[in-house]
Amino acid sequence: MYRLTGSVGQGGRNAHDDVLLVQKQLNKNAHITSAIGTLPETGIMDEATLRAILSFQRAVVRLGSPDGRVDPHGRTWRMLLGDQPQATNVAFVQLSGENGNFYLYESQDRVWGTASTIQSIRNVAAVLKPHGFEIAIGDISFQQGGRMAPHGSHRRGTDVDIRPVRADGRRAPVTISDPNYSHARTKLLVEALHAEPNLKLILFNDSKMAGVRFWEGHHNHLHVRFEE
Ligand SMILES: [Zn+2]
Repeated sequence: MYRLTGSVGQGGRNAHDDVLLVQKQLNKNAHITSAIGTLPETGIMDEATLRAILSFQRAVVRLGSPDGRVDPHGRTWRMLLGDQPQATNVAFVQLSGENGNFYLYESQDRVWGTASTIQSIRNVAAVLKPHGFEIAIGDISFQQGGRMAPHGSHRRGTDVDIRPVRADGRRAPVTISDPNYSHARTKLLVEALHAEPNLKLILFNDSKMAGVRFWEGHHNHLHVRFEE
């Protein structure tokens, strides 16, 4: 199913099913780079699809001069399927330690990030302490980065999942439609995140919240992206 019969994109063969497959994978990876947006899955090679391929090559494959083309055995296609990007040579730092005014809701091996990302999380947690609540940190990245299922992103130590804040202070999941969800506390969290100079974006689906972008599936966590 995930095999291309021919190339897709600029100068490609652009067979319908191949184009469709590339569009679907681009959409699965849209989470990684805001430049892609959501593509209509038509199987027809068009301007929007070409732009998305170029954005993906620039932002994720890190091609100096993207060619806008996905070849069946090429690097762009492998990475669209979720292969690891080039090993990063930046050492990641693990988020750990008690009394940080946060708790982890995934395992310890999944909370490695760049030094600035980890520092920002600590800053935000500290800023919120006087307000009387802690924050819940989920997946960041593995120690060596790379693919972290089920996410498309979380490869570079700059993505952090955070639970919306509960009104009752329990260490438990919560969604925006749950009576225990605190919009007011989560708003303080969002504001504290925006005070970090390296914040890039927040994906979260509380439509009454300023400073966040809607993204499917983000009703039970904030996906926070920091600069590299
Ligand atoms: Zn996430």
